[in-house]
Formats: sequence, structure tokens, C-alpha cells
Amino acid sequence: MIDSMEITIFDIQRFCVHDGPGIRTTVFFKGCNLSCPWCSNPESQSAKPDLLYFESKCVSCGRCSAACPERAIDFSSAKPFFYRDLCTRCGKCAQACMQYAIELSGKKMTVSEIMETVRMDADYYRNTGGGLTVSGGEPLCQPREAAALLKTAKGGGIHTAVETAASVAPESFETVIPYADLFLFDIKHSNPAKFKEIGADLELIKANLKQAVQRSAVIARVPVIPGFNDTKEEIYGILRLAKECGVDRADLLPYHNLGRSKYAQLGRPYGWRETEALTKEELEPYRGLGKEMGIEVAIGGKQPHEE
Ligand code: SF4
Ligand code: SF4
Repeated sequence: MIDSMEITIFDIQRFCVHDGPGIRTTVFFKGCNLSCPWCSNPESQSAKPDLLYFESKCVSCGRCSAACPERAIDFSSAKPFFYRDLCTRCGKCAQACMQYAIELSGKKMTVSEIMETVRMDADYYRNTGGGLTVSGGEPLCQPREAAALLKTAKGGGIHTAVETAASVAPESFETVIPYADLFLFDIKHSNPAKFKEIGADLELIKANLKQAVQRSAVIARVPVIPGFNDTKEEIYGILRLAKECGVDRADLLPYHNLGRSKYAQLGRPYGWRETEALTKEELEPYRGLGKEMGIEVAIGGKQPHEE
């Protein structure tokens, strides 16, 4: 029964307008096979639950420390200190905290439970051409589960989109193709060695992209990352790669650093802390790069009529 199939997710967001056409509900799968150091959703990377601590909400009551069966929370100073290597992610500290200063990110939900939320906005989807988007993390790290959710939505007349970097085996990619109306296909570079740095395989990505183009609609999404791919030559190379695989629309997404605080909440260092966000205006010079090769370039991932 696909309705009872469990998916590990870390969020469901309703009324999204940047994850495909119209108003959409985006389901964020937890777990990713890449390791991009600029990731704005670091809580999405591990397939296991993550413990987030919001220091500004903490009133130093000590309840979390008392509740922890592993003695993973030291309370000998003004604020709790988490020994994360001792933590089993049981969530008892989060339950004990009356200030919501601790959160366990990541849970399993069945397809049927997720669809309850997705169906709530069916009228909006109908009126705006919206629908369901599965994102992550990398949704194709749970290919059967992603396919089950997409199939259920599509079977109910809901438009479906998959946001993916697609550095997965073709068999995994094949699992979702029949149920995806649209792929938002992440392409971060054109050089295999640069892909390797973040744990991705360009040959797999290209093979999957070609399949997607033949059997579904595809928009390439290019996160423009300072120091990684933010040169005219590299953006041109990415657009050319996309075009060679059959793509005729690409969205350039400026790097933002809105995920900075999450690294602190997870107790992890963030090497990109000092990197300034890019603005849409800074990407304007790249807009014309697709012209001669016949690829439409949008800045910021909005639909053309919104710009
Ligand atoms: S229970 Fe919550 S408010 Fe109290 S010390 Fe722990 S994190 Fe802070
Ligand atoms: S999740 Fe469980 S083991 Fe981890 S710090 Fe909280 S109470 Fe302790």
C-alpha cells in the first residue's frame, strides 16, 4: 500500500511561489547525497533527525538537562551545552523545554499523512496552475517514497514537480519520471572535477537530465555561488551543458546566506559565514548569455509573467 509508505521529511511548506508554477505545497525530504559547503538548509543533509537549539529563546531553566537520559546536556554554565556525539536524538529535551528553544528536525510521515496537507490547497492549485513540489535535501535519496507521493498526487489531478540535483543512479531517477510533470533540475557547474568536490557525478547528472527532457518538462536551476561558479565563463558553460541536454529554460538563483543561523543552531561551523549574498541585479549581466544558444534565462526562479 503506497498510502502507508513512510517518508523522512524535515518540513512541509504551503503557499510556495518559487518552487514551480502557481501556488504550491513543497515537501522537503531529509537526507542528501551531496555536501555543498554553502547549503542553506544544513538540517536537510543528514537522513537522521537533527537537534536545533535556539539560544535566544532559552531562559536557562535547566529542564532539558534534567530530561536527558544520556547526560548529553551540560548545565554548569548559564546556558546548556550539548554534547552532540552523546545525543541519540530521542527528543526528550525538546519535549521538556517550555520555551520551544529545542527542536528535533526530521520525522517520518506516511504518504497519506502528507497528502492530507497537500490536498488542503487544491483550490489554489486549480486557480493558479500550482501543485505539489518535492524538494530536499535530495528527494531522490528516497526514490520509491518520492515516486509514491508523486503518483498519489498526480493520480488526484495535482500538478507535480521534483526539485533535484539528480546525482543518482538512473534506476532511481527512472522511478520518479512517470509521475513528475516538471523537473526543477539543479546544475551547479559544468566541470566534473568541481562536481566531485561536492560529492556529485556529472555523467550521472547528464544522463538523468537527458531522460527528464525527453519525458517531462524541465527548468534548469543554477545556484550562482561566489567563488564556485560566479563567472561569465562558468555560467555560459552551465547554460551550454543544459542546452546540449535539451533544456531551453534556465533560472539563475543568487546565493543567499539566510541559512547562516541554522549552523549555529545545529552546533556546526559555517565556512561561508563571511560570504556576502548576491543580489538579482548582480546576476543581470548573465541574462543575455543564453540568447545565442536559444535558452531562456530568468533571474531568481520566478515565472516569466512575474518578472
Ligand atoms: S529547557 Fe529550554 S529554556 Fe530551559 S535551559 Fe533547556 S533550552 Fe533553555
Ligand atoms: S535528544 Fe535526547 S539524547 Fe539528545 S540531548 Fe535531547 S534528551 Fe539528550
